[in-house]
Amino acid sequence: MKLAHLSPDQIEQLVARAKAMKRRASSSDDSLDTWIERVLLKDKRSVARSDKQLAGLIIAVTSKSAVAETTEGTMLVRLLGQRVVVGDEVTIAVTSETESSVLEIAPRRTKLSRPDVGRSDREQVIVANVDVVVIVVSVVAPPLHPRLIDRYLVAIQQGLADALIYVNKIDLLEDESELSVLDPYRSIGVPVIHGSTLTPEGGDELRAALVGKTCAFVGHSGVGKSSIVNALKPDADLKTGLVMKGYGRGMHTTTASSLHRLADGTVLIDTPGIRSFGLRALEGEQIASYFSEFSEFKCRFRDCTHTHEPGCGVLVAVESGAIEQVRYDAYCRLREELE
Ligand code: GDP
Ligand code: ZN
Repeated sequence: MKLAHLSPDQIEQLVARAKAMKRRASSSDDSLDTWIERVLLKDKRSVARSDKQLAGLIIAVTSKSAVAETTEGTMLVRLLGQRVVVGDEVTIAVTSETESSVLEIAPRRTKLSRPDVGRSDREQVIVANVDVVVIVVSVVAPPLHPRLIDRYLVAIQQGLADALIYVNKIDLLEDESELSVLDPYRSIGVPVIHGSTLTPEGGDELRAALVGKTCAFVGHSGVGKSSIVNALKPDADLKTGLVMKGYGRGMHTTTASSLHRLADGTVLIDTPGIRSFGLRALEGEQIASYFSEFSEFKCRFRDCTHTHEPGCGVLVAVESGAIEQVRYDAYCRLREELE
């Protein structure tokens, strides 16, 4: 057992229970750690012994529990120290009519993660098992942040999902030519769709691009993520309409992200606005591998950093325009930041 995987609240609860057990047993030899492990193991065993297990999909997460969709309805499940995220496929142990716990998290097919705030050595997974990550941006208000797009693109490739850029709020543009700032992304094969939630524009194209897929919406706050998700799902807000089995009333989740199903099989996951989006520790060479357009060009040195070396094919390609200058600049900025 790794105590590091538990939240401070969970550790506090465990310590309290361990102390109580220790008092009852009036044992003085064992260290508190051993006691805590025993309590946790007992907890897990009692869950494992329960007669019923269900497969579930995590659709919302609160601090100590999560909401899972199962064949028997939506239910609130207790977390036994695991860090689940929206999109996780889990095995749930149903202990009683009102009590269920997460027993196991299935390996994640894809994920989007960023470093834990304040702890750059530990990754923080934002969503799991998504097919497409939709990077929502706006060009005017808020202004475009290409650095954020570049970071997302690297993280999306790391997590093995596909990327799509949705330019929202095009009603605020004076001229469609302002969209040309997105050309570098189009030219490297990232689909770019533009539209507005205030007009019908873009809605159908976005819907068609996402149909049948599980999609997470990410981006700077204020770009219109919630508005887009709301526009795409015609039914009432599922988040507030949830009735938990065994709880009997709608529960208001303080979710980080939440999941919504459309009739056509598309799954939408909205995530909170992200002010800054860091990247997990990457080596310089690895950064280049996430700028896929660089790989077409050969360099004299195998460990070329593409910054100053003679015989660098990437530098030549930037010079000739075969690689977009803005993408090369993004590469250099990421290198500097991660060094
Ligand atoms: P989020 O923080 O990314 O979820 O953004 P919201 O969906 O909360 O939207 C932020 C603000 O932008 C709200 O005031 C929306 O009404 C507004 N907004 C959303 N979409 C559009 C759009 O297409 N055009 C314009 N002009 N405003 C929009
Ligand atoms: Zn090079």
